[in-house]
Amino acid sequence: MKRVAILGSTGSIGTQALEVIASNPKRLAISMLTCNSRVDVLRGQIDRFRPKAVCVGRKADAAELGREYPRLKIYCGAEGIKEAIGTVDCDVVLNAIVGIAGLEPTIEAVRKGGLTVALANKESLVTAGRIVMEAARASSVPVIPVDSEHSAIFQCLAGNDENTIKRIILTASGGPFRGFARDRLTSVTVGDALIHPNWKMGRKITIDSATMMNKAFELIEAKWLYGMEAGRIEVVVHPQSIVHSLVEFDDGAVMAQLGHPDMKVPISYAFSGPDRWMTGTRGLDLIALRSLYFEEPSGEARRSLDLAYRVMHDSEATGHDSGAVALNGANEELVRLFLEGKIQFVDILDTLEYLIDSHRPMAITSIEDVFVVDRAARRAVLERLVVEPLLS
Ligand code: NDP
Ligand code: MG
Repeated sequence: MKRVAILGSTGSIGTQALEVIASNPKRLAISMLTCNSRVDVLRGQIDRFRPKAVCVGRKADAAELGREYPRLKIYCGAEGIKEAIGTVDCDVVLNAIVGIAGLEPTIEAVRKGGLTVALANKESLVTAGRIVMEAARASSVPVIPVDSEHSAIFQCLAGNDENTIKRIILTASGGPFRGFARDRLTSVTVGDALIHPNWKMGRKITIDSATMMNKAFELIEAKWLYGMEAGRIEVVVHPQSIVHSLVEFDDGAVMAQLGHPDMKVPISYAFSGPDRWMTGTRGLDLIALRSLYFEEPSGEARRSLDLAYRVMHDSEATGHDSGAVALNGANEELVRLFLEGKIQFVDILDTLEYLIDSHRPMAITSIEDVFVVDRAARRAVLERLVVEPLLS
């Protein structure tokens, strides 16, 4: 029986992970659940899965839960999550928190040791991939990807020598605005951008999929997970989302993982691998599909991917990883402003490009460094899009 802590249990990945756990009651048990503010959803999860501990964002919610569940250990806030990870017994920590808020919990889990980290929170690797992977190696903690593309690669690598990888090909659905040039994006609304053709996900990653910054971040995620230079990771647009990614090996063999888009498959594999458990996902009917098609990234997508390649090349040439941190922090702020209706969709990429053009790379040697660059990037966004327009 594996004891699982789910960080971000009330979100899209968190709730699907709970479905996987509910389908495997003899193999998996919940030790801890966390959320930020959706405490009512958490209450239902506590009643159903009986965790030993929970963590919530607000003190008032923690106090109320304490009165309702006197035997439950309750933690609160960013410090609380770290303390809980350090204290609560578990075999797997699934990090399904959104954004850089997931970074410190990842670090805490990899440093604790004696467990496996199942990582959905790609921002941990985007902002601190070098630190996370070094810490994981030092404490022999496996970091298992949950992101569908990286899980596909992980599955393709089973039984193969990682040193024989020639290149990695990440597939991208292209999102709702596949192939659109900038002039077709100027009137995009929040509603338009929140409709993803193939996946139902949290709001932040759905906007990232519309700008293709999600794929840009996945390039950086793959670089750190698989120790691969930027020049050997490519993106191909595959609107059907059936091929989840591919690996080409030195001998010319190409392995791919296919299936209907369903996050329960990579989530389940993160718990079960190399075994496979039933997920209830429907089988693939190749005859009904008839063909699989692929195209080159085009339009605005190219701009997003280029930003990732630029910061990866910088990091390889100088060892300075701050570009990716700035890209992530600025993007989080821009997505928030867009979702709040304060900026236009096209402002997201325009501002990211402007900030990376003017970014001076610096070494990132600690988590404190990450937060310094993150805060500066967020400030720069607010100055450019909120303060400057008020002054002009
Ligand atoms: P959601 O927004 O649906 O869920 C996020 C979870 O994190 C919620 O439980 C939320 O709590 C919690 N949370 C939010 N902010 C904080 C914070 N400051 N501190 C602690 N907890 C917080 O996101 P997704 O499930 O879509 O995505 C989670 C991660 O997985 C992201 O990094 C995403 O990129 C990655 N991912 C997601 C995929 C998907 O299909 N959804 C696919 C591949 C990767 P509350 O509910 O209380 O707000
Ligand atoms: Mg993905």
